[in-house]
Amino acid sequence: MNVLAIGCHPDDLEIACGGTLRKYVEQGADVFMCHVANGNMGHAEILPEPLAILRSAESENAGNVIGAKQVFNLDVGDLLVDRFDNHIVDAVADVIRYVKPDVIITHNDKDYMQDHVETNRLAFNGSFVSSVKHKTTQYDVYEEFVPIFYMDTLAGVDFIPTHYVNISDQIDIKLKALACHESQIKWMMEHDNIDFLDMVKTCSRYRGYQCGVAYAEGYRPCTVYPRMTTKHLLP
Ligand SMILES: [Zn+2]
Repeated sequence: MNVLAIGCHPDDLEIACGGTLRKYVEQGADVFMCHVANGNMGHAEILPEPLAILRSAESENAGNVIGAKQVFNLDVGDLLVDRFDNHIVDAVADVIRYVKPDVIITHNDKDYMQDHVETNRLAFNGSFVSSVKHKTTQYDVYEEFVPIFYMDTLAGVDFIPTHYVNISDQIDIKLKALACHESQIKWMMEHDNIDFLDMVKTCSRYRGYQCGVAYAEGYRPCTVYPRMTTKHLLP
């Protein structure tokens, strides 16, 4: 089974679906992680260019902790993620054509910042484009309408899951992967007084309470034609 998770910033997947991705790996799936934006604006002191390099390395480290086969960095600047930019759409389509996923996980269609919402649309549109035979990109057509799951919003705001994944055995690795994003965690602690690891752990605990386990991650399926499936695709 091939799993493709498409997040916006280098740490978004670890926050919302890191436990699920690790669980897929433990069950023998090939997991691929992709971040569209390079996170170059995610710090008030480190300048964009060195920050993008630093954050790429952090996301590689986190991908290794999770056990991902590959981490794709589409290297779009923060605040420039755009569903109507054909270069970005094609880049997303090419990741999908290369990975040939059985399931895609991405952001919810409503979240706290525009780049996240744009990434949701890019995953959706990129998946459609990847299936169009005469649309030429770097890789060959992947003629599948892949089921898509939307992951939790930041801090779970205005997101009611319909599906839960029990990550009680994966919570420690999820937090270890998130901790690889040192530039973000340190920054948020020092300047916003937010303990990001605690926040993410608490949200996973909260989702766990909702479904009767210690820790969980919540999802909603993308319910449009023809992405419905009879298969159980979450681990
Ligand atoms: Zn983000």
